[in-house]
Amino acid sequence: MSLVVSQEEYISPGHMACPGCGATLAMRYVLKGLGKETIIVLPASCWSVIDGVFPYSSVKVPLFHTAFETAASVASGIKAALEVQGDTETTVLAFAGDGATFDIGLQALSGAAERNEDFIYVCYDNEAYMNTGIQRSSATPYGAWTTTTPVRHPKDRPKKRILEIIAAHEIPYAATASIGYPDDLIAKVTKAKGISGTRFIHVFSPCPTGWKSEASLSIKIARLAVHTKVFPLYEVENGFTFHINMEPKNLPVEEYLKLQERFAHLAEQEIAFIQKNVDEEWEHLLKRALY
Ligand code: SF4
Repeated sequence: MSLVVSQEEYISPGHMACPGCGATLAMRYVLKGLGKETIIVLPASCWSVIDGVFPYSSVKVPLFHTAFETAASVASGIKAALEVQGDTETTVLAFAGDGATFDIGLQALSGAAERNEDFIYVCYDNEAYMNTGIQRSSATPYGAWTTTTPVRHPKDRPKKRILEIIAAHEIPYAATASIGYPDDLIAKVTKAKGISGTRFIHVFSPCPTGWKSEASLSIKIARLAVHTKVFPLYEVENGFTFHINMEPKNLPVEEYLKLQERFAHLAEQEIAFIQKNVDEEWEHLLKRALY
């Protein structure tokens, strides 16, 4: 199926993101996939700031700011209200960062997924609480510096496997995507739009401010994450059917790490440990997946 990407832009220039922000590109591409008949539910996150100061908004669709833990429950409620009104056209999109998804909002998301509520949930993952000062989240990868995992005590636990956790609720569609591959991301959003029930898309979104990387390198870093197997692109249908969407180039993980100062303190053996983990996780995924 060939993908036609909308020329329409649903984000205005002049939003409040840092230069090179992956989360902003994530929203741009997601809205290109969904179109203007969309209502966004936005919990506390960088995007609460990026959107702008009331009464201004940088997105051109209705947007509801809500509390950190409530994205999935508010999305469920808005969808129910639309149904009462007989509106079957509008897509409800919960758009949350990793803190609101992996940690603070996980209970509400799990409840909604278990009920198979009819909305799309996008997690833009910048691997820490960036909005409040770069604190560790359960999406922060092993070995990373954050302000709560300083260089002498970097993160000593692996990143939570959120996609598998949410897919295990046997929702109809779950997928990873990356701002480094907009066609794949938009195709997945478009596919999700055509499915009913809870749909979950985990979008890899580099953050130059928190990752201490060059703003001009965000796309390169996002692509390297795919090609070092740090962040594989894959889909899970109905909880069991795994498809890998892009064959990684199998580059050494160091190529990815060295562009981010948050990993600059890592010694050779720690990089080797990360490489071993990445290789093992890829093998684990391969066993369950179809190309
Ligand atoms: S801190 Fe990171 S995620 Fe937040 S707006 Fe800046 S670049 Fe984007």
